[in-house]
Amino acid sequence: MEEPSGTHTKRKVVAVVGGGLVGSLNACYFAQRGFNVEVFETREDIRQAKIVRGRSINLALSHRGRQALKHVGMEEKIVSQGIPMHARMIHSLSGKQSPIPYGKKGQYILSVDRANLNKELLTEAEKYPNAKLNFDHKLQDWSPETGLMTFARSDGSTEHIEADLIVGCDGAFSAIRKQFLRRSRFNYSQTYIPHGYMELTMPPIDGEFAMKPNYLHIWPRNTFMMIALPNLDKTFTCTLFMPFEEFEKITSGDEVMEFFQKYFPDTIPLIGPDALRRDYFRLPAQAMVSVKCSPYHIGDKCVLMGDAAHAVVPFYGQGMNAGFEDCIVFDEILNQFDEDLSAALPEYTRVRVPDDHAIADLAMYNYIEMRAHVNSKWFLFRKHVDNILHLLMPKTIIPLYTMVTFTRTRYHKAVERWHWQDKVINRSLLLSATGAVLGGAYLLVRNPPDINRLVVPAEKMWSRLLALRSV
Ligand SMILES: Cc1cc2nc3c(=O)[nH]c(=O)nc-3n(C[C@H](O)[C@H](O)[C@H](O)COP(=O)(O)OP(=O)(O)OC[C@H]3O[C@@H](n4cnc5c(N)ncnc54)[C@H](O)[C@@H]3O)c2cc1C
Repeated sequence: MEEPSGTHTKRKVVAVVGGGLVGSLNACYFAQRGFNVEVFETREDIRQAKIVRGRSINLALSHRGRQALKHVGMEEKIVSQGIPMHARMIHSLSGKQSPIPYGKKGQYILSVDRANLNKELLTEAEKYPNAKLNFDHKLQDWSPETGLMTFARSDGSTEHIEADLIVGCDGAFSAIRKQFLRRSRFNYSQTYIPHGYMELTMPPIDGEFAMKPNYLHIWPRNTFMMIALPNLDKTFTCTLFMPFEEFEKITSGDEVMEFFQKYFPDTIPLIGPDALRRDYFRLPAQAMVSVKCSPYHIGDKCVLMGDAAHAVVPFYGQGMNAGFEDCIVFDEILNQFDEDLSAALPEYTRVRVPDDHAIADLAMYNYIEMRAHVNSKWFLFRKHVDNILHLLMPKTIIPLYTMVTFTRTRYHKAVERWHWQDKVINRSLLLSATGAVLGGAYLLVRNPPDINRLVVPAEKMWSRLLALRSV
């Protein structure tokens, strides 16, 4: 890759701590600008590792994430390695499957492999001559005054490295964030939800996907649910989300089978009874945490992005997408302030905190929508109404899911608009229903029906019923 323009005049050192999804993408952004980028990642290089431990096998990539990838020329490559999912496929207890489209025709989200995406981004970052990846570097501490960081190596040694800007992309349990917690006027909250998650694999059948591949399959069971996303190797990764206490009640293979027989009977032949009995106990259920904090920066020295700033529960499929969008937003702000870090960092906090807090709240809301609301007739009716209104008035009524998933409408603006639309649509439905009832009553009063014409068929019906009973 060519030396980016302006490199000779800038050459500020940017340390990206964390070489996960957001860190590796961010390295590309800073390198593209000509900064001298050093990525520090605690793990070994996942491109060489035999076993890659991650938090989920696949992820849903949507518009915000794609836009962020596009900016560094990675969109096409990643999209070509993903599987489009056009709709949710709801599996009822009886095994009936009903699709609910995500948006208009042609709109879809993509199932992408987490490890592969991370590998591709690391490889892309490494192509910049002004970017260097340092694996086996675990951040222990750093100083907000000097930017001096201390890293621990697996051989027991430590390294001290200084940077002009530290970008904390070290995930939900960020070590960079610990310095923020020591400071006054830093707001922080973390919430563990009572549910955990467990991943199970549904293998291909005769070399083909065991279920329709272009869907995100959902088995909503009110207090818990299972979802399945397709993979390129024709497997599905099924993720069971359930309260920890329910996971713990199941202690033997027979109990696993009994549970699946009761709630997900259609999946037993697809996952395979033996695999189910075995894989359920392979790993314990994993916890899910939601983290909110503010501000995201310290002076002109450090900024938090991705899960380090805002870990969200995975029910809107937006954690990574929001983290990727952080990279574009920061880049836009750097343009706006001509790379003056002392102005750009506070502006980033001002702009981004309301949006990341909004998506954290929406993800919590979707936690209930996915496992319970999709079973409700009113919810399905409202989804249809919203979609029809969106078709008729595409600029006035935009479904929330569309705004979040298929546009870059700021998350907090999407929430405000959603509340406004909901009020207008619900009031219009109420008015239409009241109008229909009053109109019907008026017509009945004006043109009373001939009572005899109604009574005679009723009598006929009654005698038929009596005849049926005596058969
Ligand atoms: C079950 C599940 C499903 C999900 N599904 C989706 C989805 O469909 N769509 C979506 O958009 N999001 C999804 N997410 C969220 C997504 O996984 C995260 O938002 C995303 O991984 C955040 O990326 P990150 O780089 O900020 O953090 P991480 O991916 O956690 O990466 C942090 C990196 O920092 C490194 N690190 C940690 N500590 C240190 C240290 N002290 N020193 C140096 N390095 C360190 C770690 O090794 C890691 O490589 C899901 C999450 C879960 C749990």
